[in-house]
Amino acid sequence: MKLISLLGATGSIGQQTLDVISQHPENFKLVAMSVGKNIDLARKMIIDHKPELVATGEKSGYETLKAEFPYTRFTYGEEGLTEVATYEKAHILVNAVLGSVGLYPTLQAIEAKKTIAIANKETLVTAGHIVMEAAERNGVSLLPVDSEHSAIFQALQGEKSKNIERLILTASGGSFRDKSRSELKGVTVKEALNHPNWSMGAKITIDSATMMNKGLEVIEAHWLFSMPYDKISVLLHKESIIHSMIEFHDSSIMAQLGTPDMRVPIQYALTYPDRLPLQTEKRLNLAEIGRLHFKEMDFERFRCLAFAYEAGKKGGTLPSVLNAANEVAVAGFLDGKIKFLEIEELIEKALQSHDNISNPSLSTIQEVDKETRELVGSLL
Ligand code: NDP
Ligand code: MG
Repeated sequence: MKLISLLGATGSIGQQTLDVISQHPENFKLVAMSVGKNIDLARKMIIDHKPELVATGEKSGYETLKAEFPYTRFTYGEEGLTEVATYEKAHILVNAVLGSVGLYPTLQAIEAKKTIAIANKETLVTAGHIVMEAAERNGVSLLPVDSEHSAIFQALQGEKSKNIERLILTASGGSFRDKSRSELKGVTVKEALNHPNWSMGAKITIDSATMMNKGLEVIEAHWLFSMPYDKISVLLHKESIIHSMIEFHDSSIMAQLGTPDMRVPIQYALTYPDRLPLQTEKRLNLAEIGRLHFKEMDFERFRCLAFAYEAGKKGGTLPSVLNAANEVAVAGFLDGKIKFLEIEELIEKALQSHDNISNPSLSTIQEVDKETRELVGSLL
């Protein structure tokens, strides 16, 4: 029996993680979870899964739930996230919280020697060097949940990293893949939230439309698989059936395929190195699909991807600026404060006005994150 703590239980990945747990009551048990503001859903989850510890985003949610569930321990705020992440009984932490708020609790969980199933990509993007060093020092495994990284991780089983020629991350192209740059000027939030293949949280759906999601994933892949940036490429593949590939030195390519269903990589991270059956809506039927399409990535059309490669290659605090500027700009777009194309303009401004600091400490990263949020917030 694996005991699981879960950050971001009420989110898209969080709910699918709970579905995987529910499908295997003899293998997995939720012992601690965090939620943000969605107290109604939290209530239902507490009844269904009976976690011992629950953290809410705010004190008001904490007080509401505490009055209703006298036998559950409650906590709240950023400290609450860390308490859940390091909950003593848990064997695995699934980090599915949104944004760089996931960084500190992840580092603490690594120090507490928890295995980490990592969905929260902002953690590796902002502080990859610190996270990977801590994981190595503590002998902790970081198991990827993001479908592209899970695909690479699965394709790597039984292989040696030294034989990799390059990683090929696939990208669906997001909601606006068939639109030209000029057609992007007047697009609405509703249109942007309509992803052709995947059902995900709002922020990552916008990140997919700007291609920043792939940019964050390139940086994530750099850290998870210690690959230099010139050995990580991105290929447009509109069906999202091949989730990513590894090309080896001998020209052989290993790919992982499946329907776009995040429960598959979530479950693989929980069962690794084993597998369990999984009830999904649909299994892959290639004969029905008939053909798959691939296209070269266009860096002029998807400028955020170019920003991410540049920030990743230069390193230092630039990836933190990229991430924080993106988080604030996307929230601004979702709130109707800025237009779609202004997301990339604000990120570019933040990157250009930043004096890069190499090999930053955690506190420097946190400071730069805060400064960037303030700067971009003032430009909204
Ligand atoms: P959602 O927006 O659906 O969920 C986010 C979760 O985090 C919710 O539980 C939310 O709580 C909680 N949360 C948000 N902000 C805070 C905060 N400041 N403090 C505490 N809790 C907070 O996101 P997703 O599930 O889509 O994504 C989560 C992470 O996984 C992201 O990093 C994303 O990039 C990554 N990811 C997601 C994929 C997907 O398919 N969705 C695929 C691959 C990676 P509440 O709702 O209760 O307010
Ligand atoms: Mg992904």
